[in-house]
Amino acid sequence: MSKEIIVVIDFGHGLPDPGAVKYGQEYQYAASIGREIAKRLPDNVKIVFTRTSDKALSKDKSRDLAARCAVSNEAGAKLFVSIHLNAGGGTGYETLVYSPNEEANIVHAEIKKVLDKYGVTDRKIKVRKDLAVLNGTKATALLLEMAFIDNKKDMELLNNQEYFSTLCQATADGIAKSVGVAPKSAKAATITLGKYRIFTGVFDSKESAEEAAALIKEKVGLNPFIRKEE
Ligand SMILES: [Zn+2]
Repeated sequence: MSKEIIVVIDFGHGLPDPGAVKYGQEYQYAASIGREIAKRLPDNVKIVFTRTSDKALSKDKSRDLAARCAVSNEAGAKLFVSIHLNAGGGTGYETLVYSPNEEANIVHAEIKKVLDKYGVTDRKIKVRKDLAVLNGTKATALLLEMAFIDNKKDMELLNNQEYFSTLCQATADGIAKSVGVAPKSAKAATITLGKYRIFTGVFDSKESAEEAAALIKEKVGLNPFIRKEE
């Protein structure tokens, strides 16, 4: 039996259902966010997409939802992450779960760092019993409402490349941590070992550098050295 960790990334709505539409179309944003998160996950996480085309797995909505759950259940996924954009006059980010769980706490905490940095409303983790992908998946399932597609400010921010990348990286880091894998960005750290230095990157905050250093210590057993550079 393979012991690989499988994470399913679900782009949510697919054509003919575009999802919510206002300052863009939900299915398009969800797919680009999902792809970006996948790119930023560590290599030792196996990613399974419920679909990669714009089209839903069935024109029938309930069949599409069941098919998306089936992809996850057949893959034996550890975590199922469905990407959405919210609508209805609000603003900000929220995580939806069938019942409170540690994976959601970890992912949400990573994303919250970005929300705080950019002054985005944290709508917290909400329990929803009525969502098919949350109650039809054997894996722990998270539905991430990344922004409000009917909020101009939310969408302007999401269209900002720096915010988009930071948000997707934080989501990927949270996903990695929640399944017990070192985040890809944590590999970017300085390790001092005798005269030889392993250098792979820089961090924009002392907190993230220390977090990465702690992970290196834990996973590799080395004492990383952090140097501040102006
Ligand atoms: Zn949606």
